[in-house]
Parts: sequence; structure tokens; C-alpha cells
Amino acid sequence: MSELVTATAAQLSQRLRAKEVSAVEVTQAHLDRIAQVDGDVHAFLHVNADEALTTARDVDERRARGEELHPLAGVPIAVKDVVVTKGQPTTAASKMLEGWLPPYDATIVERLRAAGLPILGKTNLDEFAMGSSTEHSAFGPTRNPWDLGRIPGGSGGGSAAAVAAYEAPLAIGTDTGGSIRQPAAVTGSVGVKPTYGAVSRYGLIALASSLDQAGPVSRTVLDSALLHELIGGHDPRDSTSLPDPVGDLVAATESLDLRGVRVGVVRELGDEGYQTGVRASFTAALGLLEEAGAEVVEVSCPSFDYALAAYYLILPAEASSNLAKFDGMRFGLRVEPEDGPLTAERVMAATRGAGFGDEVKRRIILGTHALSAGYYDAYYGSAQQVRTLIQRDFAAAFEQADVLVSPTTPTTAFRFGEKLDDPLAMYLNDVATIPANLAGVPGISVPTGLSDDGLPVGFQALAPVREDARLYRIGAVLERLLDERRGHPLLAEAPQLPTTVAQEANR
Ligand code: GLN
Repeated sequence: MSELVTATAAQLSQRLRAKEVSAVEVTQAHLDRIAQVDGDVHAFLHVNADEALTTARDVDERRARGEELHPLAGVPIAVKDVVVTKGQPTTAASKMLEGWLPPYDATIVERLRAAGLPILGKTNLDEFAMGSSTEHSAFGPTRNPWDLGRIPGGSGGGSAAAVAAYEAPLAIGTDTGGSIRQPAAVTGSVGVKPTYGAVSRYGLIALASSLDQAGPVSRTVLDSALLHELIGGHDPRDSTSLPDPVGDLVAATESLDLRGVRVGVVRELGDEGYQTGVRASFTAALGLLEEAGAEVVEVSCPSFDYALAAYYLILPAEASSNLAKFDGMRFGLRVEPEDGPLTAERVMAATRGAGFGDEVKRRIILGTHALSAGYYDAYYGSAQQVRTLIQRDFAAAFEQADVLVSPTTPTTAFRFGEKLDDPLAMYLNDVATIPANLAGVPGISVPTGLSDDGLPVGFQALAPVREDARLYRIGAVLERLLDERRGHPLLAEAPQLPTTVAQEANR
């Protein structure tokens, strides 16, 4: 495997700036890696080699002319296919948008382009970002590079798998209930859900607008900080965008210890229902944080027990409204009924019946019901009250601790099909990640090693709104201590790929 694909974004940045390597070489190495392994991994729905190489060539020319470039110029990136890219297919992994070419770029994509990051392509996800395994993609699942028989998490399984399989050093994900952090956890990558409003939502295909947030996926904490600083900050085109800058996230990764940091272990997250190996890895990580000088305390957030239930009312309610625009009239798929009159209602029904998968339909029905007259107060109204209680729990807990921690997920990556017919079991994957979205607080997942089943485990840290820098500090210290113990970063161990591919890669 080329060392250009195992290098971190920070290392690539350095080598590009020193002109030891060109952006074209770096981009080509990743395109080669994709060609080699993506037939098995299926992280990408679209690869745009020409466009990526054109960007890379442009960066090389500008560098040769001595222009001042962004530190990540020439470092390739993969973008989740729920983020619109001008002229590049954007499907949200749904038949509803198959073949759609957006006429504009999302703000974060504009920022990537302006900084000169070659966009390798668009990554797979559960349809409209609903799911925890990518099994709900209309175009087939992504496989976990650690074990191709297992799920890479979801909804952003494609972005996480691309990073874990060395197909991209960086990726963009979106997190509505855990879709950056949970896939990062089960693929051994780093994933960050920023403070709500800290990264523009303009150009994200909306799932639940009060919960959605885009963020970085990478193999190291520093790489996520570099990307987060680039995509974050105010955007006048997003009415929920915060006015503040994102803070000095890269500097936060330079902290060497955690003296004076109070780490709150959330009693309600991490006990019952959590796999033994996951708990063991979490406890070991806590020990390291203490060694680094952190004070570990226990905090209680009793309303978290109702977070999942509240989320599965609020999310479907918002999603049912957001997805109403896919009606066969304006853009995307249009299916006309085979016989009978061609009324608007019948075209909409035929289009939505054919274009949406089962999980999307399930949530539209749930959401429409929760919002209907007569049920609104009982369901949607109560869920919003629970949301307030969760926010109060966070506020109280952050009086006692600077960051809150838990395992990111109850289990390691499960096998394909294991939870597909049991929506509740699928929803439970996000039991630890959902509270953050309901309160708008930022969260990170950092790999802590392998469970007793040989699969990666993620450690979640949550910080108060606007305090994203704390996540990078605790994440970087934990990563450094773990690397010292292991002698190498977790992801330096080549993830399992089929023998043929692995042999190719090692040549
Ligand atoms: N898995 C969660 C869900 O299905 C989270 C999805 C997300 O964050 N986009 O809703």
C-alpha cells in the first residue's frame, strides 16, 4: 500500500508544502487505492477522478507560482452524498434523487473547493441519512474494512469506511443522531459532531433540521481539527448559523495533559446493554485520562433514558415535513401511474411509492402521525418537553464536569442482516449519541482500541455548546496516550480486506 494513502492529512499537508510530493501524486494514489479496494468496501457512490485531478493540478500550479495556499490544499477528501455538489451527482442514497445534478454547492463544499481540497467523490449512506448500518442505501451497503461481513455503521458508513480503508484521509459526514460518531466508532476512525449551528447546513439535504450537523471524519484528532476549522464558522445563508468563529481547535490538540479537567462519566450511558469488550475498552481509556491528570467524576442525566423515544418522534416529524418536497413535480424521480387518470395526487403517490425505501416510508408515516391533529400534543409536544429536560440535564451535568464521556456505541460492528428486520434494535445503536443532537452540544468519537472480538471501539466525549475545543483537547491527549501504549496509531494496523486485495495492497 502506498505510504501516500496511509499518511494523515497533517502529514500530507506538510509534505505538500515542502514540495516533496505533488497534489496530483497524492490524489492519484488515493484514486488508485479506491480502484483497488472499493469494489469490496463500496464506500463510494460516485468517484470523480477527473475533477479531483483538475483541482490537484490547479493546486500544484498555484504552489509552483508561490501563492499562499490553505494548509489542506491538495489533501483529498470524500464527501457524504447528502451534501450537494454542483454538477456532481447527489443522491442521498435514494432512488428519489438518482441522476440529479445539483445546480449549486453546499457552503461547506464551497469552502473545500476554495481551499483546494480535491473532492474524490461522494460516499454511501443510509437513504436520506436514516439508519445505523448503510443497509438502507438504495444502492447497496458499504462494508466495514475491518471485517467485510459487518456493517460500517450509519448513516455515514461510506465516509467512515473510506477513511478506515485508506481511500481518503478526510471525509465529510453529517450527524443527526449519531451518523458521524457511530460509524467512526465501529470503523476505528475519529468523528466529530460540531455544536449545532457551528457548521453551515446550507446545501445539506435536510433530514431533521433542528438536529442535523455536518462535521469531520478522519484517522486522527488533529486531522479532524484541521478540517473542522476549515468548514466551520458563520454562514449568512443558514438562518441557524452561529455568529461566532469555531475556536482554536488545532491549538487545542497540542495540549499535553488534562490537569484541571473534570471528566464526567454519564451513569445512564455505558452500563446495561453495552458489550463487555466495549465497556472494558472504555474503562481502560478512563484510566488513561486520570493518568493525564483529569479528575473523573460520575454524573447523572436521568432524562437521557427518554432521549431515544423523544428523538424517534422529533426526527420523523421533521423528516416527514422535509421530505414532502420529493413529490415527482419539481425535481428527482417522477413515476406516473400505469393506468387511470394522471392527477397530481396519483403521480405523487406513484413517485413516492417507488422512490422511497421502507425505512424512509416508516419514518414518514410515524412523523405524519405524530404531527396530526389530535396526536400532536401527546407525541410531538411531549417529545419537545423531554428535549427540554435533556437540555437541563446537560446544563446540570456541565456544572459538575467540563466534558461528559461514555462509550460511543453499545456494541462493535454487527453482521449484515442482524438488525435489519428489527427497527428498534437498529435504533438502539444511537442510544449514547442522540442526547447531544437533542441539546445541540458537540461530541467526538475517538478510537480506543479493539474489543475482545477484534473490532474497533469508540470513546465519546461531549462538551457544552461552543466548547468544541475541549473535545479536541481530550481526544488528542487520549489518542497520544493510546499510541504510546500501542506503539502505533490504531489505524496503522491494516484493516482486513479480502486476501486478494490485501496482497495487492502490500505489494
Ligand atoms: N441512526 C440514526 C437514525 O437513524 C442517526 C441518523 C443520523 O445521524 N443521520 O436516525
